[in-house]
Amino acid sequence: MAKRLQNPLPHLAAVAALLLTALLSGCGKGEINQALDSDANGFVCQACKTKFYTERKLFADFCPNCKNGDVRQVVGFVCSHDGHVTLAPRGPGFLACEKCGKSTSALSIPREKDLQAWGAARKSAGEVSSQPN
Ligand SMILES: [Zn+2]
Ligand SMILES: [Zn+2]
Repeated sequence: MAKRLQNPLPHLAAVAALLLTALLSGCGKGEINQALDSDANGFVCQACKTKFYTERKLFADFCPNCKNGDVRQVVGFVCSHDGHVTLAPRGPGFLACEKCGKSTSALSIPREKDLQAWGAARKSAGEVSSQPN
């Protein structure tokens, strides 16, 4: 796993939070950049570190492995130096690139193939949600 930077720039964190809020809650509200849209939602369990993903319209309520409710949605942190994307739970600040160690500077929404490469397993509504639709 990538290390979280010790001193993320506050204004970058704020911009990232705004961007993510706009992206993740922006369904149906205007156009979303195709490059920032995705076909899947990636998650990691904070309790047992299980990686998994769901289809786009499904959001996990709990971990499919330990049933803990503390699951975090993952996003891609893009390195401007080598283009490498580090997948990690979204949070304040930017991560260090897992490849070169420099600070990442952009965010992306990982697609299904990115999540598979990351080691996540696809889960169905019945495995991660108490309200399958
Ligand atoms: Zn778990
Ligand atoms: Zn890098």
